[in-house]
Amino acid sequence: SVSIVWLRNDLRVSDNPALVEALRTGQPVLPVFILDDETVGRRPLGSASRWWLHYSLHSLDESLRKLGSRLTLRRGPAGRVLSDLVTECAATSVFWNRAYDEGSRHRDAHLKKSLAERGLRAESFKASLLFEPWEVKNQSGDPFKVFTPFWRACRALPPPDEPLPAPKSLPVPKTWPATDLLADWRLLPTTPDWAGGLRAAWTPGEAGALARLSRFLDIALDAYRDARDLPAVEGTSRLSPHLAFGEISPRQVWRAATNRGASAAVDKFLSEMGWREFAYSLLFHNGNLAERNFRPEFDTFPWADPGETVVAWQKGLTGYPIVDAGMRELWATGWMHNRVRMIAASFLTKDLLIDWRAGERWFWDTLVDADPANNATGWQWVAGCGADAAPYFRVFNPVLQGAKFDPKGEYVRRWVPELADLPDAVVHSPWTAPKPLPASVYPGRVVEHGAARDRALAAFQTVKKSA
Ligand code: FAD
Repeated sequence: SVSIVWLRNDLRVSDNPALVEALRTGQPVLPVFILDDETVGRRPLGSASRWWLHYSLHSLDESLRKLGSRLTLRRGPAGRVLSDLVTECAATSVFWNRAYDEGSRHRDAHLKKSLAERGLRAESFKASLLFEPWEVKNQSGDPFKVFTPFWRACRALPPPDEPLPAPKSLPVPKTWPATDLLADWRLLPTTPDWAGGLRAAWTPGEAGALARLSRFLDIALDAYRDARDLPAVEGTSRLSPHLAFGEISPRQVWRAATNRGASAAVDKFLSEMGWREFAYSLLFHNGNLAERNFRPEFDTFPWADPGETVVAWQKGLTGYPIVDAGMRELWATGWMHNRVRMIAASFLTKDLLIDWRAGERWFWDTLVDADPANNATGWQWVAGCGADAAPYFRVFNPVLQGAKFDPKGEYVRRWVPELADLPDAVVHSPWTAPKPLPASVYPGRVVEHGAARDRALAAFQTVKKSA
């Protein structure tokens, strides 16, 4: 008999409560990952996430082998696959760490019940959040809809426990069950191979995550409060894909940051981690966050037909340098700076008046940190239809935002090299250059911001009236 650890968004051996519990049973431990594109109600991973997953699983298998174990890979609807595996290996217990999206929760609840009915121990654990969504309530016992009081309530709770150490070794089953070959899952692109920039930018896996964390603590934490808004500098942790795949736990990040001593920089960084907690609380309490407007009055919003402009946005050819730089950084590396995510999302939803869901889907496919809670929350926040959202009348001016957060145009020149020789004064508004670049080199603006802003505000008036 064996104890199964079902690994999902917790691709690590340290601070992994499900793994530790399996070890505690004293039985052989069978670590399993299931590629589940089939369970109804669960969203399949996007292309960039599949790229990441390939390397993350490879790295996890290597870590398990150092502990004397290995990773078993299976594919299919996870409930059925696990049920079969339990029979095949005569398992007596199954442990996993919790997921919070609706589809996974239904699947997991159903599985837990059916395993319990068969007499197995089936238990889930908190591992990817600092605070469970049901632990943080307002005075009336309801979930918070506004970030600041939510985070205040979190900070008033006892701080997260110490992270659990990685096991020193794992007891193994007498025989290993059959496993899929990772390469057969074809998670990597073939032709065209669009992943060169991703390979150059990232080291997926637990070791890569820990290295990223210590680099951040050493070079960027102290200046985080100011530098976090400057896309040209490495002012943030870039831990988001590692957190999305659970290669590092938020508890490990919390501990490492607070161990550096209390400071305003640490508090600001923790509160950004708090936005992740808030987004997960919204996801848990509201279900379909990537599809449904959090504010129902937006259901009648007069979005424009996306036409060709959505393609110009995706390709970074809108004629607005800061937007184009962000979209090209995203395409090249699978990541975009937070400030630029806000600018690019505002441009899509307000200047182009395109439904935020089109942007959310593009990000879902191209981000290595694509996250069911953070992505939908970010998009709804910018579009104005989210909980605690930016007010509808706030329309980012891409020229002013560029000048403020990328004053020397370094970020724009890095990602839009056609603009490299423009003077700083016009690098965010190349159409004002004494000798504008020909459209064959860099496109003219797809819309004029002033007119687009007026159109957006007029459209938002209709929502206000129906509210
Ligand atoms: P840091 O500043 O170092 O922050 C540390 C961690 O805190 C991040 O890794 C992340 O887990 C969390 N965090 C920071 N800011 C936010 C935030 N605003 N909301 C939620 N969590 C946050 N983040 C994702 O992880 N996945 C997404 O799919 C995603 N989509 C977004 C879409 C839009 C339109 C917007 C405006 C934001 C989105 N974000 C998303 C939030 C944010 O942009 C990224 O988390 C951040 O840029 C990641 O970089 P970092 O790890 O260097 O962040």
